[in-house]
Amino acid sequence: MRHFPIFLDLTGRTALLLGTGQIAERKAEPLRAAGAIIRQREHFHPDDLNGCVVAVGADAPDADLRALSEAAQAKGIPVNVVDKPELCSFITPAVIDRNPISIAISSSGTAPVLARLIRAQIEALIPPAYGRLAAMADRFKADIRARLPDLAQRRRVLEKLLTGAAADLVFAGREDEAAAIFESTLADNAPSGGMVFLVGGGPGSADLLTLRAQRLLGEADIIVHDRLIGEDVLDMARRDADRIYVGKERAHHCVLQEDINDLLINLAREGRKVVRLKGGDPFIFGRGGEEAEALQAAGVAFEVVPGVTAALACAAQARIPLTHREAARSVTFLTGHTKEGKLDVDFAPLVKLGGTIAVYMGIVSLPLLRDGLFAHGLPRETPAMLIERGGTRRQRELRGGLDRLVAEGPGWSRKGPTLVLIGAAIGRGVALRDTLPVFHQDATQPV
Ligand code: SAH
Repeated sequence: MRHFPIFLDLTGRTALLLGTGQIAERKAEPLRAAGAIIRQREHFHPDDLNGCVVAVGADAPDADLRALSEAAQAKGIPVNVVDKPELCSFITPAVIDRNPISIAISSSGTAPVLARLIRAQIEALIPPAYGRLAAMADRFKADIRARLPDLAQRRRVLEKLLTGAAADLVFAGREDEAAAIFESTLADNAPSGGMVFLVGGGPGSADLLTLRAQRLLGEADIIVHDRLIGEDVLDMARRDADRIYVGKERAHHCVLQEDINDLLINLAREGRKVVRLKGGDPFIFGRGGEEAEALQAAGVAFEVVPGVTAALACAAQARIPLTHREAARSVTFLTGHTKEGKLDVDFAPLVKLGGTIAVYMGIVSLPLLRDGLFAHGLPRETPAMLIERGGTRRQRELRGGLDRLVAEGPGWSRKGPTLVLIGAAIGRGVALRDTLPVFHQDATQPV
């Protein structure tokens, strides 16, 4: 390590700032935020250093900056001169401010841009709410010390509070419930602290996960997932997290929904942090609603984290505007799931609405869909599209009217999850497609 990191307490102390231009202003900001009294000068005079604990040189003449550096170092005052490492006795890191938490990153002056990129990645992992979590811990500090005099025990309890359900409740803005867990844990009648997160895993690409989903995957003790979850999404999970596959194949459900509900409830009651990871969004044709109801009825704490649903991912990557001022003023998410060979859809209002229709689980019922829509007046030439494995590198598309999709769909399909899009807006998308290069599509990938 080339530099020794420290955090200076500047509250009420004086900092000398040399320069009055834009750079100086940028340097003044964090000093002021840290409570420093700023003594700002255009030129350097040795007396200016009297009573200062730190000195910063910004946009001042070179001779002044050099004199500042020498005088400060002679007096043992830490000095930084912007963009002149040879005049510095300290360097300033890239900072993530989650007051009262701060994280400083340095490349020892070798690659400040890289340090800033690292900062951006860490920023994404540490939600702003970490500041609120620290404030919560601070609120209970005296109580914790009084009740848990043993240091090791104190650390154990704090770790549990700061990574368990109480922390998640703070992140979710439910401070009162979090405080109740702090209180009951300290009063030693702690609830188990388990919690379930119904998390949307998006269409299958890791970079279409939300930041919240990514964080929870990194923290979960156990991940309960189904078939649509891709390996690169699961790779985001903590290495030592347990995984349970409860995938459902159409027609032969391999784990009953009630059994999944019970599993989630029991794991939470064991005190585990459970991520129930679902393809797309948990509340769109994912039976997330049933799981939420079961958890609620069992009194298990849970949160729902939205995900990019298939229709949005497919459309974005195929460059289909789902709504368009001239072509579609609504979008309907429809299930093509059949019961006893019948499609339970009220076609008349759907056709009348005239917007885009996104059909989930629609490939098998495609002939029924076509017949119903045409019987209720949808023009035969309405553009439509099948999109397989949308939102991933393996997205494939088949376009045409519904007649063509019904005829060619079965032969074209490679049995990946497939969405049906229907409506005039698809024509707009196809027009876009023909004039622009497509970067993501790689239909040549083996399946
Ligand atoms: N909750 C999920 C949908 C689950 S239902 C979501 O919000 O996306 C399963 C159906 O979703 C599949 O039959 C298919 O129609 C659709 N689907 C899911 N992922 C898909 C993908 N990557 N590409 C195309 N369709 C997908």
